[in-house]
Amino acid sequence: MTFQGFSDFKMESPACHPGVVVYSADFTLNDDISALFQYINAVAEDPVYFEMPDTIQFKLKGRRCALYAKRLVVGGFENRDSAILFFETFSEFINGIIKNRDTITPNHKRYKPIPVMDIFKLLPRSNCRECGFTTCLAFAAALTKGEVLMEKCPTFSETDSAKTTQLRALFS
Ligand code: SF4
Repeated sequence: MTFQGFSDFKMESPACHPGVVVYSADFTLNDDISALFQYINAVAEDPVYFEMPDTIQFKLKGRRCALYAKRLVVGGFENRDSAILFFETFSEFINGIIKNRDTITPNHKRYKPIPVMDIFKLLPRSNCRECGFTTCLAFAAALTKGEVLMEKCPTFSETDSAKTTQLRALFS
């Protein structure tokens, strides 16, 4: 089996930061790769493997990825070309797992959801809607279910900021 890439691709509405525009890339994959999640959970950097929905988030080349059965969402791109280039890295990663699957011990451990209020306390609570949710509480609820990347809120778009570290610690 070889990973067949994507059939569709869109750049989501940008979140605006002072002086910079950052896009999320949303790829529709040709293959259902959910059977690989337990292997990704074993080898990827900083994985969070969710039960419901069946999805896994992890870091690849410094970028946070949210992977669904047939969908990949990655944030933090300046333009379309950089997103396409990143997809090549993702394909290599997936094909590497397919090739070496027999030598990887799968990790079935799933993440236990964090209480929504624990996340909410760390959010700006301004209800600014830049993340696409109408309130910070709705964003917190989506975050604990793995339905969105924390980077959709501009406060957490810098991966090395103190706020991002605090929020990430909840998921580790
Ligand atoms: S979570 Fe962040 S982006 Fe979303 S409404 Fe709250 S402050 Fe705004």
